[in-house]
Amino acid sequence: MLNIPLAKPDLNGNEIKNTLHCLITNWISSQGDFVNQFETEFAKYCGVKYGIATANGTVALHLALTALEIGAGDEVIVPDLTFISPINMIIFSGARPVLIDVLPNNGTIDPQEIKKNITPRTKAIIAVHLYGQPCQMDKIMALAKKHNLFVIEDCAEAHGAKYQNQKIGGFGVISCFSFFANKIITTGEGGMCLTNDQKLAEKMRVLLNHGMNKKNKKYWHEILGFNYRLTNLQAGIGLAQLEKIDLALLMRSRISSLYNFYLKNTFDKIKSLEKLPNANPVCWFYSLIINEDNLRDKLLEKLKENNIETRPFFYPAHIMPPYQKYIRPGQHFPVSEDLAARGFNLPTFVGLKELQIKYICEILEKNLSDFYN
Ligand SMILES: *Cc1c(COP(=O)(O)O)cnc(C)c1O
Repeated sequence: MLNIPLAKPDLNGNEIKNTLHCLITNWISSQGDFVNQFETEFAKYCGVKYGIATANGTVALHLALTALEIGAGDEVIVPDLTFISPINMIIFSGARPVLIDVLPNNGTIDPQEIKKNITPRTKAIIAVHLYGQPCQMDKIMALAKKHNLFVIEDCAEAHGAKYQNQKIGGFGVISCFSFFANKIITTGEGGMCLTNDQKLAEKMRVLLNHGMNKKNKKYWHEILGFNYRLTNLQAGIGLAQLEKIDLALLMRSRISSLYNFYLKNTFDKIKSLEKLPNANPVCWFYSLIINEDNLRDKLLEKLKENNIETRPFFYPAHIMPPYQKYIRPGQHFPVSEDLAARGFNLPTFVGLKELQIKYICEILEKNLSDFYN
């Protein structure tokens, strides 16, 4: 068997045509029609009014925090188990990240823990829809309302997922997406902020373009801004990806069903992430949790020897050097530590063949039973 990668973009639609269009017409910067079109179409797909395209998902988070004027003296609640971007962006905004534990077997932020960690300084909650699993948005929104907090959704790993039949990305005041090459749809690098608030949308547009308002004088900077723009080349790819997003989600869900089928004899030793009630997750990666944490890395090593690329779950943020100082006295993260030690992802991408899935599952099953014999 040839090497099976963890992820691979599917660029076989109008990506080439749209890219060529940019090259032929010379519209290769952030000016050009594809950017506005991509913003409009993606926002519509998520059921949100305004889309603001950004250079990547990380700066989308920074843009959201900046637009909400979150900074020095503020606290922002964020899960301890996440890709690191939201935590880094809170710190760069000048605010303090308040790391909290996640839900057992599921991995998204724990609303009980949010409640316990709200202080008079709390300004916002960043809800990360981790590994395709939507957060418990009803509870999170209720807490936010009660305590007058902003909710920012980090949707980078869950395009198209739903909670209580509503697409994620429309619950919080701003939601942030990434279109990195391994995400559900990609522009290579790229991201977007969505919001239903017109004023915030306009503010983000000005912030991301050096603090200039396109409607007013050029080179007149009304506020301090960034260059966080997406290019027309990337937006063209994004539009082509968006045409296929529902098909891509369907194929990913089929991959997940095939893994479930071929792994059915191993579910006493490993199990999938559990979805929350009323959640419709998407399959970003097929994620598994092994019962015994000391076997996880050995198993991934065996898969690697058989040319199967995998990825362990993220490390708990609080154990890494830049974040240790944010642990509050008496705080513990048993669930985050446990999931980080036992979780891993298997290859998941449009184009992954049933034969390859079968092969991956055979190798996995064989090695698991070897460990136990
Ligand atoms: C990928 C990712 C991001 C950041 O995306 P980039 O486009 O790579 O900057 C942010 N948050 C989460 C949860 C992610 O998985």
